[in-house]
Amino acid sequence: MISVEEAIERIERAFAPLGAELVSLDRALGRVLAEPLEARLTQPPADVSAMDGYAVRAADVKTLPVRLKITQRIAAGQPPSGAIGDGEAARIFTGAQVPPGADTIVIQENCDEADDHLTVREGRRALGQHIRKAGLDFATGDIALHSGRRLTARDISLAAAMNRPWLTVRRRPRIALLSTGDELVNPGDPVGPAQIIGSNGIGLAAMVHAFGGEPVNLGIARDNLEDLDRAIETALGFDALVTSGGASVGEHDLVQTALTERGMQLDFWKIAMRPGKPLMFGALGALKVLGLPGNPVSSIVTALLFLKPAIERMLGLAGLEPAREVALLGKDMPANDTRQDYVRARLVTNAEGQKVATPFSPQDSAMLSLIARADCLIVRKPHAPAAKAGDTIDIIPLSGGCLSI
Ligand code: AMP
Ligand code: MG
Repeated sequence: MISVEEAIERIERAFAPLGAELVSLDRALGRVLAEPLEARLTQPPADVSAMDGYAVRAADVKTLPVRLKITQRIAAGQPPSGAIGDGEAARIFTGAQVPPGADTIVIQENCDEADDHLTVREGRRALGQHIRKAGLDFATGDIALHSGRRLTARDISLAAAMNRPWLTVRRRPRIALLSTGDELVNPGDPVGPAQIIGSNGIGLAAMVHAFGGEPVNLGIARDNLEDLDRAIETALGFDALVTSGGASVGEHDLVQTALTERGMQLDFWKIAMRPGKPLMFGALGALKVLGLPGNPVSSIVTALLFLKPAIERMLGLAGLEPAREVALLGKDMPANDTRQDYVRARLVTNAEGQKVATPFSPQDSAMLSLIARADCLIVRKPHAPAAKAGDTIDIIPLSGGCLSI
């Protein structure tokens, strides 16, 4: 058995960033930039008004009230027709270009207009006020988004404003998912008395999606070498094969045997953790293979801990263990044994504004209802001493993060 940390390290070492591809901006949400993104234009392109009002010369409005002649009207999208001279002003609207000669915007609420003349009655009129200078947001050639950034909706707005309708992003890792077990049927199919729904395939596909990969569900292989071998063959050519179930030591656990017979080089098998001990990692030529345990909670927790960094590494991201936070423990916990525990828990904020994590019981790795309801996983190191309610503990938040998509 190896530690969780060592397993993550070995997995990260085995994967490398994938190549890049071009996508249109409307398909780019969540994709990872593979090159720095330079602005193709300057924004705003010229000095523009930030308010509806009048463009004036600061020197003309030093003392109020003052009467100025309106020589032009400028709306957004229209260039000014000429310069503003002494004693002159331009009617101007938000986003319109400030005409040459004007250096200040006075807002319309402080002015009266009649007979092509403007009276500025009152209000602030500092030099340059309400003018957005050319290039305030960004200038041609500026790098506003860096390589390795996972694009948010806000980034996509920025890229659009920078006139970059196509982006070079990392190819999405293609992950083949294979469920194994004689007892499994697909959701929606008739369920016999000794059968259960194979939920891992569909759940893992959703996780792969959330992590930034492209899942392809290969369905269910039965617990025999022929069926497993056929399924393994279909996975060749993918970036990784993720199996669930059949990874333990029972006589129906044939996944490792089937892979080894095909020539898989085993990297490790079994991690000192709970849930998720029987986890297997290896390579079948270029195909990386991650064998997850069959119990639904184990498959979810191990996918979060090991599949996420693998996908992130292929995407050229940092690929670290999920972000940890601290919280106060909601109830006493006994001393831990040799395995690192990931304890499903509820997270609430108490009256003092502190986060409090309370473990569910039971902690059965077959209970999907509890992992679905959990707000976080409490991380307990191997050999951690007994902990008391109120102690500070490490948690991995679940809601609001990658798993909530
Ligand atoms: P195994 O590792 O194959 O012994 O599976 C461990 C437990 O997980 C058994 O109770 C299986 O029935 C269950 N299991 C395996 N695969 C799945 C799956 N895809 N969906 C739900 N439960 C599963
Ligand atoms: Mg099985």
